Order: sequence, then C-alpha cells, then structure tokens
Amino acid sequence: MLYLKGVSAYYGNLHILKKISLHVGEGEIVALLGANGAGKSTLLKTLMGILFPKGGEILFQNQKIEFLSTEERVRLGLSLVPEGKGLFKPLSVEENLLLGTYTWYNFKKKKEFERKLEEIYALFPILKTKRKAPAGTLSGGQQQILAIARAFMSNPKLLLLDEPSMGIAPNLVLEIFQYIQNLRENYNLSILLVEQNARLALKIADRVYVMETGKIIYEGEAKNALENPEIQRAYLGRE
Ligand code: ATP
Repeated sequence: MLYLKGVSAYYGNLHILKKISLHVGEGEIVALLGANGAGKSTLLKTLMGILFPKGGEILFQNQKIEFLSTEERVRLGLSLVPEGKGLFKPLSVEENLLLGTYTWYNFKKKKEFERKLEEIYALFPILKTKRKAPAGTLSGGQQQILAIARAFMSNPKLLLLDEPSMGIAPNLVLEIFQYIQNLRENYNLSILLVEQNARLALKIADRVYVMETGKIIYEGEAKNALENPEIQRAYLGRE
C-alpha cells in the first residue's frame, strides 16, 4: 500500500529525515515510535505533501506520489489526523466534518454527504449527540474522536495519526484506540500511528518502526518489540 524508499527531507539546511525506508501493508496497523524531535511529525508531513522530500521516493498503491499536492494525495486515499487535532473550534462538530470532505463535496453531493454523516454518527455516536456544539466545547477526548472522524470523511485507505493520545484522559485514550481498531476491522483501513504511549501503540499495532535523529533504528513485529529489552528500557518504562 505505502512504500518509502530512502526518503530524505530538510527544513532549510537542517537535514531532518535521513534516508527513511518503511512500508505499510493493506489493513495493517504500523506504529512509529521515537523520542521528541526524532522526526516523526516531519515524516507524516512529507507523506501528506506539506513538505517535499529532497531524495528518495514514496509509492502509494504503486504510484509515485512524492511530488503530488496534498489535495491529490487525499483524493488517492491518504488522510492525516494532525498533532493537536487541527479542529476549527468555533465551528460546530458537523461543520468540522464537512471540512473533511473538501476533496469531493459540492452541492450535488449533499445526499452523499448526509449518508456519510450517518455512517460517521453510527461509528461515533457521541458526535451525533454533539453535532451542533462548537468543537471547542467538546472534551479533549471527544475532540480527538472528531479529528479522526473528520479525516475519515475523505474515504481514506491509509490513515496517518499523529499522537492521538496526547493530553487525553487515560479512560478516553482506551476508547480512542478501540475506535482505531474498529476502523481497521470494519474498513480494512491501513494505519500509520505515531504515538508517545508506546505500550498502548504496540498492543494494537502489527509492526513497529523506531526512529532516532531522523533514521529508522529498529523494525519488527509489535509483539517482539514488547519483549525486546532495549525497546523496553528506552520506550516502555516500567509497568
Ligand atoms: P515530537 O514528538 O516532539 O513532535 P517528532 O519526532 O515528531 O517529535 P519533528 O516534529 O518531526 O519530531 O521534528 C524533528 C526535528 O525538526 C526537530 O529537531 C524539530 O526541532 C525540527 N523542526 C520541526 N519543525 C520545524 C520547522 N518548521 N522548521 C525547522 N525545524 C523544524
């Protein structure tokens, strides 16, 4: 589904991504772990066309995409839930969901939008209850659910999630991870999950990559990583 081959990216002269190679298969959940500043968000920005690479290639469903615009990538089936959620807080829940359709919505597609909304409300009932509420009045966890639902409005095949547990109460974090798993089960969605909560991420992921200063330093099955002493020491802490 997604292949990165030797991808390098810079901010000005700062060399951030150093020949990153990784892949995500169809219906797979892949965790991307690493300390603050390792380059995880930069990798997601490069995947979405917010930043263009200076070397390497990105293949999505066998098509080279590294120089396509963000909009073209969304049309192909990539969708990002950004760090900090990126919601429009004064706008209602439903208006935020409408913004997730910008690559396909027009007036003639109103019925399709309504169908999609009903699908979203069935998946995430809390959003139906709050449909008219300004997004900023929702709890942190509910806002994260809204951000995921908005990304889902564009009918993605691969969802990129940047730190979905950040700043969210632990009981709601479990709910959010359950939603992520449901999306994979019900839609065969592929998911690339950047997460600080490594233990939780490894519980739902099939495979994992660990990044350090712009390089992949570990790659493996999630269940093996949970038992790897170095990964335990660096990322899992004590139970
Ligand atoms: P975090 O968990 O803190 O978000 P991260 O692994 O996602 O960490 P990035 O946000 O990708 O890391 O940052 C990688 C490096 O790039 C850091 O050294 C950061 O300071 C730098 N950086 C990030 N954004 C910019 C920018 N717009 N301009 C210049 N440098 C940047």
